Amino acid sequence: MFLDAFEREQHILAPEAAHAQNSQGRLTPEVETPVRTCFQRDRDRIIHCKSFRRLKDKTQVFIAPEDDHYRTRLTHTLEVMQIARTIARALCLNEDLTEAIALGHDLGHTPFGHVGERALDKIFGGFHHNEQSLRVVDVLEKDGQGLNLTIEVRDGILNHSGHRPTMTLEAKVVQLADRMAYVNHDIDDALRAGLITNAQLPQSPVAVLGGTVSKRINAMILSVLEASQELDDIRMNEREWRAMDELRDFLFAKVYRTPETERQEKKITEQLSFTFDYLLKHPYLLPEVLLQKSHYDCLGRAVCDYIAGMSDYFALRLFEQLGI
Ligand code: MG
Repeated sequence: MFLDAFEREQHILAPEAAHAQNSQGRLTPEVETPVRTCFQRDRDRIIHCKSFRRLKDKTQVFIAPEDDHYRTRLTHTLEVMQIARTIARALCLNEDLTEAIALGHDLGHTPFGHVGERALDKIFGGFHHNEQSLRVVDVLEKDGQGLNLTIEVRDGILNHSGHRPTMTLEAKVVQLADRMAYVNHDIDDALRAGLITNAQLPQSPVAVLGGTVSKRINAMILSVLEASQELDDIRMNEREWRAMDELRDFLFAKVYRTPETERQEKKITEQLSFTFDYLLKHPYLLPEVLLQKSHYDCLGRAVCDYIAGMSDYFALRLFEQLGI
C-alpha cells in the first residue's frame, strides 16, 4: 500500500501551487509513475547528473580556496534549496518543484564564478549562466541526450536570475531564495576571508534584519511569508527588501568588485581566452560527445560548453598544462 504521489499533492498544496498533475509535461512525453511525481523525478535526475557533482569544485565567490569552509557552487545550491523549501512548505506550494528548480538553477555556472561567466561572455559572446543551465539539462547532460525535464522546472531554471517573469510561484520562490542565500553566505565568507569586518557592515540593514547570518535569513523568510500569504505573488516586504539590497550593494563595493577582483578577472579572462583559441585549433581535445554536438552547432559553441562545464581545479590544471 502506498499513497499516490499525485493524490497526496491534492491534500497538501494550495490551489495556487503548481500541481504535478497539471504539469505541461516534457518536451518528449514519458509515462509517469504514481510513486514519484514528474517534479520529484526531475529533482532526482538533477541530483544524479554529472554537472551537479561538478558544482562542488566550482567557485561561488572565492576562487579555488585553500580553506575548507568557503561556500562552493554546490553548497550555495543547497542553501538556496533549503531557504526555498522552507518558504514553499510554509505557503503550501510544491516543495518538489521548488527543490528541483533550486538544485538545477546553477548547473550552467562556469568555473571561477561570475568572473568566469563575464569572461566567457566576452570571448564567445552572449553567454549567461542561466541560459547555460537550461542548455545543460536540455542538451548536454546524459551524454548529449539531455534530462528531458518538465516545462515548469525548465522555466524556473532559465528564469532564476533577476526579476524575470516565471510560470510558477515556485520559480519565484527560488529567485528570491537565491538572492537571500548569496547575500548572507557571501557576507559570512567575506568575514572569514578578512575582506570585511562586522563593524563595517552598513548599520541600518543590520538593525532591520539582525546581527548574524541566521537571524538575517530568518527575518527575510518571515518577511516573504508575510508579504506573500495571499499567493498572488511572491515578494518580500519593502523594509526587509531594501535592507537586503543595501547589504548587496555593500558586497558589490567591498567583495565582488574590488581592485583585487578586477586584477583576477583580467588574468582569468586572458587565460580562458587563450584556452578557447587553443581548443578551437585542437578540437580533438574536446570530449567526444561535444564534438558530435558540433556537427549541428558551431565549434565555438562546443568549446564554450566544454569550458563552461569545467570545475575551477580542472581549468587551473589545464592552464598549467598549456603553460599560461
Ligand atoms: Mg545561484
